[in-house]
Amino acid sequence: ITERTQHFLDLEEQYGAHNYHPLPVVLNRGEGVFLWDVDGKRYYDFLSGYSAVNQGHCHPTIIRALIEQAQQLTLTSRAFHSDLLGEYAAFITEFFGYDKVLPMNTGVEAVETALKLCRRWGYVVKGIPENQAKIIVCANNFHGRTLNVISFSTDPSSRTDFGPFMPGYEIIPYNNLPALEKALQDKNVAGFLVEPIQGEAGVMVPDDGYLSKARQYCEDANVLFIADEIQTGLARTGKMLCCDHENVRPDILILGKALSGGTLPVAAVLADDEIMLTIKPGEHGSTYGGNPLACKVAIAALTVLKEEHMMENAAAMGELLRQELKALNSPHISTIRGKGLLNAIVIRHEHPEAAWDLCLALKDNGLLAKPTHGDKIRFAPPLLITAAQIREAVQIIGKSLETL
Ligand code: PLP
Repeated sequence: ITERTQHFLDLEEQYGAHNYHPLPVVLNRGEGVFLWDVDGKRYYDFLSGYSAVNQGHCHPTIIRALIEQAQQLTLTSRAFHSDLLGEYAAFITEFFGYDKVLPMNTGVEAVETALKLCRRWGYVVKGIPENQAKIIVCANNFHGRTLNVISFSTDPSSRTDFGPFMPGYEIIPYNNLPALEKALQDKNVAGFLVEPIQGEAGVMVPDDGYLSKARQYCEDANVLFIADEIQTGLARTGKMLCCDHENVRPDILILGKALSGGTLPVAAVLADDEIMLTIKPGEHGSTYGGNPLACKVAIAALTVLKEEHMMENAAAMGELLRQELKALNSPHISTIRGKGLLNAIVIRHEHPEAAWDLCLALKDNGLLAKPTHGDKIRFAPPLLITAAQIREAVQIIGKSLETL
């Protein structure tokens, strides 16, 4: 660690809250699949801002939209109209095939919005008695950090000493259809909230057929199927939505992260009128939600994904990445899993900190990745990565594994 790097680490340590444990690298430039640190060293980005930078760092089309709109109009609040909200709403609803969009900023706000919509629908459409609505969620979920959302987390590091918690949730095991079937017998269930792949849990890919059957069970029980595609959506897994792999259309679709290509917080909830119009003027919103800058950037971010065939590339490069990782034949990799460019390896090593140590070695060798839940490391580069870059990155991974 250079003196220059240490200076920035010290500043953060002294004046920033200690709510994260980052790798000791300080970045000041990004382009495509690469990041540069303050000493000018270049790295492959194998995290992509937790899948917010699917389109690659500082994508010129997105940055152009950002700059041009920033010089024109950035915020009106929803007290007035802008000339972009309608255009964006028409664009994104057509793009994903829903009647309406409700724009928010961060991912967890969109999750909260979806949960409010679901409860509201449960009361006014389904007819659940007042304050009795239940929403089914999955163990080991990650949907964000608000008090409500951590109320149904099963991760002690998310919950400890943050109670009391919000009632109205039932937690069932992930990838378990009999448990869902049983939970759906309760007539007061309004919705089932699920990640199509559990990203934070370590890229847990459910069995083929899980999503389509779960969706069918929900439909049969008159329960809303709510997909949190904040991390899995927007071409990351090789389809525009991860649910597309099973031709599943969620009743409520939650998007965030790459909706702005890593430039500013933009999230969205999509649903049809029967659900969306249950929320009336004045009953929900956000000062920045649907601001003109976000609208312009989101249109550009979605256009780039489609025009640059990022789904197809994510599918092909994901195959290659998993193949090349397998070919390393490392005794320290016990599992390689994923879909498209959302992948993880599980580290096998007697030393419990081995995954962290490997990430430090990767950093030294020019690749940035971060462990999740101890022994898992996500490999999720921007979706414009080339085959030659995948091969070079896997060489770096192989070389770094040898240091363990
Ligand atoms: N849902 C999923 C599946 C996520 O991966 C994340 C973020 O990692 C969130 C929700 C929360 O998004 P945000 O951090 O923008 O609030």
